[in-house]
Amino acid sequence: MQTTTLTLIFVAALLGSLLLKFWLATRQMRHVAAHRDFVPAAFAARVPLEAHQKAADYTLAKGRFGLLAMAWGAAVLLGWTLLGGLEALNGALRDALQPSLGNMGYQLALLAAFALIGGLLELPFELYGTFRIEQRFGFNRMTWKLYVADLFKNLLVGALIGLPIAALILWIMGAAGSLWWLWAWAAWMGFNLLILVLYPTVIAPLFNKFEPLADESLKSRVQALMARCGFRAKGLFVMDGSRRSAHANAYFTGFGAAKRVVFFDTLLSKLSPGEVEAVLAHELGHFKHKHVIKRIVAMFALSLAGFALLGWLSGQSWFYQGLGVLPSVVAPNDALALLLFLLVAPVFAFFVSPLFAQLSRRHEFQADAYACQQASGADLAAALLKLHEDNAATLTPDPVYVRFYYSHPPATERLAAMQQPA
Ligand SMILES: [Zn+2]
Repeated sequence: MQTTTLTLIFVAALLGSLLLKFWLATRQMRHVAAHRDFVPAAFAARVPLEAHQKAADYTLAKGRFGLLAMAWGAAVLLGWTLLGGLEALNGALRDALQPSLGNMGYQLALLAAFALIGGLLELPFELYGTFRIEQRFGFNRMTWKLYVADLFKNLLVGALIGLPIAALILWIMGAAGSLWWLWAWAAWMGFNLLILVLYPTVIAPLFNKFEPLADESLKSRVQALMARCGFRAKGLFVMDGSRRSAHANAYFTGFGAAKRVVFFDTLLSKLSPGEVEAVLAHELGHFKHKHVIKRIVAMFALSLAGFALLGWLSGQSWFYQGLGVLPSVVAPNDALALLLFLLVAPVFAFFVSPLFAQLSRRHEFQADAYACQQASGADLAAALLKLHEDNAATLTPDPVYVRFYYSHPPATERLAAMQQPA
């Protein structure tokens, strides 16, 4: 391929995705604004107008902010690639570090510097999102002190976990010959599985407190549900999610018999025991339908395709030059190829994202149906509405926006499906 051909394809894809995102976001905002003053008929009895309007205002505030963040993200991407940011950073680090630290030291420094600069460039948006938007709508519970502590913990954990796996992948890229991408993929998958095992017991407790569920009546209720569904877990835990945010959730982590059920304290304070049971039954539905395994398998397959593509691209000089960097003849270009790929791949992946969103929405319907068999459908519907209201999620999203982005079907569709006889 010609260098300029890749540049043109990249610019066209970036512009196309920006236009599409802009169109979708403005559709969503118009739709929500137009329905701001009336609660949809199906919810009129259960959702107060005030809550509906708060949801609309929250959606609009996030939408406007999202447009700004999108423009900034595109500018940063162009800055790194075609405008020469990555080329400048790479050249400076290579000249300064390669003679003393060698190829591996220089490449790790490049990855770390890129991650740090990228993080700094995003920081204002993160701060504004948390301390302005979330704060304004009453969701933020994070203090500055906690924010800074989190930041440093994240940096430390990121370095402790990220640098060794980056070093391993770079080593494989340099040493494993033309099939390096297959070995690198295997290493990456092994690493992901390790994180899956370590996350609940080692990483998550660095950020939150987990205490065994103390409420005996809820505990026996949940255990009865799990027994009914033939599901085993190692423990039921309550997490202090309220330290950071008022948003509520429940999830499973871990593998096989080491699985844990984690409830956010915010969930338990908002839902009745029957509703908690119904929410958990929905999560169990994801296991029963093997959604979790299917997702892991899909991730394995997609990563393999990604590594194979990178294996091919990293050997083409137009891949570098077409995206604004010059490959070196005296030093390895592996870290450079990784960074370019990570920067550019999402632009193209965006166009297939609706396929995954659609699959995910189908899974949600299946999990709802399972929950209605194993627990009370009325409780599930009530829990869904409460969580919607507490998260200020809009009940009137734009249908096209939903098709593109929503991993969960809108509440209207989920409630309608629950009312259908199975
Ligand atoms: Zn679900």
